[in-house]
Amino acid sequence: MDSEYQSFIKTLRAGLKPKFAPDANTIDYARQLDAQDKLGFLRENFNIPTKGSLKKKALSGSIPGGNGAISGAKQNGTLKTNGDTPDDTPAIYFVGNSLGAQPKCIRTYLDAQLETWASIGVNGHFTSLDNSPLASWQDMAADCAQKSLDLVGAASASEVVYMNTLTVNLHLMMASFYRPTEKRHKIIAEWKPFPSDSYAIASQIQWHGLSPSTSLIEIHPDPDPKAKLYISTAQILSLINEHADTTALLLLPGIQYYTGQLFDIPLITAHARARGITVGWDLAHAVGNVELALHEWGVDFAVWCTYKYLNAGPGAIGGAFVHERHHLNTPDGGTVAADGEKTGYYRHRLAGWYGAEKEARFEMDKVFRPARGAQGWQVSNPSAVDLASVRAALSVFGQTGMGALRDKAVVLTGYLEWLLDGLLKEGVGRGGEKGEEPAFRIITPENPLERGSQLSLLLRGGMLEGVSGRLAEGGVVVDVRKPDVIRVAPVPMYCRFEDAWGFVEVFKKALQEERWTQE
Ligand SMILES: *Cc1c(COP(=O)(O)O)cnc(C)c1O
Repeated sequence: MDSEYQSFIKTLRAGLKPKFAPDANTIDYARQLDAQDKLGFLRENFNIPTKGSLKKKALSGSIPGGNGAISGAKQNGTLKTNGDTPDDTPAIYFVGNSLGAQPKCIRTYLDAQLETWASIGVNGHFTSLDNSPLASWQDMAADCAQKSLDLVGAASASEVVYMNTLTVNLHLMMASFYRPTEKRHKIIAEWKPFPSDSYAIASQIQWHGLSPSTSLIEIHPDPDPKAKLYISTAQILSLINEHADTTALLLLPGIQYYTGQLFDIPLITAHARARGITVGWDLAHAVGNVELALHEWGVDFAVWCTYKYLNAGPGAIGGAFVHERHHLNTPDGGTVAADGEKTGYYRHRLAGWYGAEKEARFEMDKVFRPARGAQGWQVSNPSAVDLASVRAALSVFGQTGMGALRDKAVVLTGYLEWLLDGLLKEGVGRGGEKGEEPAFRIITPENPLERGSQLSLLLRGGMLEGVSGRLAEGGVVVDVRKPDVIRVAPVPMYCRFEDAWGFVEVFKKALQEERWTQE
């Protein structure tokens, strides 16, 4: 028979809500879920800020959980429940959708890189020292690609490249994949992309001498206000149909950063591609968070950053996927299948020397011969320090798999949602004109299959500042988006069920206190 935990996974994976026991809102119950969690050991791989370390104003040569020493720091404190919160209590770090916690092994990988550089200098380009976890600088990006197949569902490492940063990669991909013609000139996007994506999309349209007012089509949430900014797949498909003949590119986020909605990537991709539309996905909030099968789904290209769910550190080098069908590296040729359909394409690109075939890279040839595959989109010599961080972060993913992480994620997020629903049922923090308005609403889809490890909480107007201040005081780190949204991300890699319980305790108190001050 399945354990209780296993049955929760099954229920949630089927898109349903599990029945947690009536007494599930206790710390003992949360700890019992933690005891059943087979991925609990992964937390040991991370330096999680503590309540004390979050207040740090100057470098002290120590890191949270350690005892003065920078290395070998161990973090095994648990949340105190008696209101006594010593400074080494781990914070509730629910902000891995913005900046992932630091893997301890990053220091080892960076040390290896620094020792290599210090010891053999320029030869590090072609030499990997024995015992080093790192490939030679020349091969580091490809090594990271090889370690990312499970993360994005690539058929081979040639579909993945690490280079630049997310928005830059979005531009480079659009340079190749958004080639408007008089007839097909539109980009279909959603109504509220992450600002950087909005700027990139509009500026690309303008770059081609076109105007967003005629070439940008925005998919809006379903008009029903109860739909809470939800964008139905039906709505997306019908808009694609409406603009099928005039659209060059469909560019959507795998997970919408604001609401946390996960889109049906395979269905939407297939629908658009069947209508001759190129399909790109921004996976900033999806990679390392939900299971992806980009090759199988036929996605043309995708881009992501590595500092959110991948934990490679602020501003670390970005990733990109280019489907095998675009891997031809010469403009002539192309493979024509028996049915007459062209199956291989050469894509023009903005070129630089690192996109050249590796063997030719140092021949200093004047003619650009791109490498076959996503590597052919590289422009510059990538930062080895950055790649060492990414490689370290990927090694932690190597201890598990996206399937297992997703199993835990659905239960952890489902449990957090259940606890929050409990607050709503209790009427915690109700107020407003008639005193009946709930203190918050969860605007992330209820269906576990339509979300990752994030719940977005829309607070009643005017509460954001007070509530977020109180959360910070309580050692809770979340993402705050003005005017009214708190985004909460219980990341399965290092967050515990006990943290979900602890968050709701602090949040509840914050809502109650905030309501009193409002009266
Ligand atoms: C985080 C994020 C970005 C950030 O872009 P950078 O170029 O890495 O600064 C862009 N787009 C989306 C959707 C994001 O979530």
